[in-house]
Amino acid sequence: MEQKFCKRLPVCPFFRAVQESEEILDVLTEYVQVYCCGPLQAKCFRIIHFDNYGTQPADDISPSGLDFRKYLNLKDA
Ligand code: SF4
Repeated sequence: MEQKFCKRLPVCPFFRAVQESEEILDVLTEYVQVYCCGPLQAKCFRIIHFDNYGTQPADDISPSGLDFRKYLNLKDA
């Protein structure tokens, strides 16, 4: 049976950062729905990075591989 939620969800720095954000942007919610709890889980950059290198990427790296803080900065610009 296909697992619905990513098994790393409880310890994922990206997910934690999204939860702790004062304002959660739509794009981040979308990431969580599509990657962490959805069909693109296996394509998550963080999972692929961990599987390939044995280490986590920086906490700000989103499942798409982009630094999600950039979205916040873009919004402020
Ligand atoms: S960002 Fe990737 S590793 Fe983290 S919970 Fe979502 S799918 Fe899992």
